[in-house]
Amino acid sequence: MVLGAGPAALCIVAELIEQGIKVTALASHTPDRPWPNTYGIWAEELESLGMESLLGHRWQKTISHFGNGIGEQGNSPTQHNFDYGLFDPVALQRSLLKRCGDLEWCVETAENIEFLGNQTKVICTSGNTFRGRVVIDASGHRSRFVKRPNRGPVAEQAAYGIVGRFSSPPVGKEQFVLMDFRPDHLTDKERKEPPSFLYAMDFGDGIFFVEETSLACSPPFSLNKLKERLHSRLLHRGVSVTEIIHEEHCLFPMNLPLPDRKQPLLAFGGAASMVHPASGYMVGALLRRAPTLAKQLARGLAADPPLDSSTLAQDAWNVLWTPELVQRHRLYQFGLRRLMSFDEERLRRFFDTFFKLPREDWAGFLANTLPLPNLLLVMIRLFWTSPWDIRFGMVLGMSSYQSLK
Ligand SMILES: Cc1cc2nc3c(=O)[nH]c(=O)nc-3n(C[C@H](O)[C@H](O)[C@H](O)COP(=O)(O)OP(=O)(O)OC[C@H]3O[C@@H](n4cnc5c(N)ncnc54)[C@H](O)[C@@H]3O)c2cc1C
Repeated sequence: MVLGAGPAALCIVAELIEQGIKVTALASHTPDRPWPNTYGIWAEELESLGMESLLGHRWQKTISHFGNGIGEQGNSPTQHNFDYGLFDPVALQRSLLKRCGDLEWCVETAENIEFLGNQTKVICTSGNTFRGRVVIDASGHRSRFVKRPNRGPVAEQAAYGIVGRFSSPPVGKEQFVLMDFRPDHLTDKERKEPPSFLYAMDFGDGIFFVEETSLACSPPFSLNKLKERLHSRLLHRGVSVTEIIHEEHCLFPMNLPLPDRKQPLLAFGGAASMVHPASGYMVGALLRRAPTLAKQLARGLAADPPLDSSTLAQDAWNVLWTPELVQRHRLYQFGLRRLMSFDEERLRRFFDTFFKLPREDWAGFLANTLPLPNLLLVMIRLFWTSPWDIRFGMVLGMSSYQSLK
């Protein structure tokens, strides 16, 4: 049984059905209700899955700004020379639903889960109950059912964005800006506060998306403050908003601890802490990791004598979060902690160094596709090519890496 109807639920249900598994799917709304978010991804990640036709927008002119915004040098962009895209969310949703065949979702909200040995029972707010050999919780980052260790406050990514029209273009024609960290519009007081950056893109026809984003903060950066920062950043460049077509309010955890992999409930997506702790991206990982998980479940469900819910879940957890992936996740969490301790100036210089790495290194790091030894090598290379104060900031955090173990 699968709980949810977001990208994680649809990805795993599609794969389970392809494995010939009988699935019960249950979510608080029908699975064709449009998703509230628009998902971005580096185009190469989708190309490697043969799914690039699901992109609604694709940009070749991809840049970031890590300068101080003063003079020619401070405004000279970093060219990524790497295509970025936004999914057409309806096309992604439809293509996954098509693979789910004629499966009908039960529109129910799960309230409680009971483990009965060979079966798991889901009790819904309506009073209806459902039983399955194993339950996969894909109800998102704030799942109430998945158990995970308490490692203190969780850092969240927050962002306030506008799709709209502007008095003059906020970014260049056909341009995508991954991170504009230029701080020249900030007051001295604001420079001492947690840093935020602009994520922005040209949609064509005079429409742009601009979003002020805080990478990760605990407590999270206030959305009102991000809104103020977005307007002051735009005004500083002589740009004002003339029409708001859509507003995006974004808040989700970046360093949620990994779930307890011995629990009898399985999870996938946000509920399984699959968001990349250093970037906040997840959809590429869902598409890559769902087939392996579904194959493991098919093997487990076919076992003779039959396995109980707990064994099915634990075997699947070990495939979803292999020791290698767990180690990589720890390294990313460690990296995020260090970044969160950097002030805006150090953070700009860190990213400037990061994006000077060979492209396969930074792109593999961001997609989480580098095998562990390569990831370690990239991190060591980053360390040696960084300015001294950044190296110092990284070394200071070694004890926090130990505490993640
Ligand atoms: C604004 C925003 C922008 C993002 N942008 C990107 C991006 O550009 N690229 C990227 O890769 N990632 C992005 N992410 C991160 C991540 O990919 C998303 O959070 C993603 O939506 C998580 O997918 P999910 O299916 O795990 O959870 P969700 O999308 O949250 O779906 C959860 C589902 O479970 C259902 N549900 C919840 N509780 C219950 C219950 N008790 N019973 C039954 N059903 C329940 C919900 O109705 C929903 O259908 C973004 C996140 C946010 C918030």
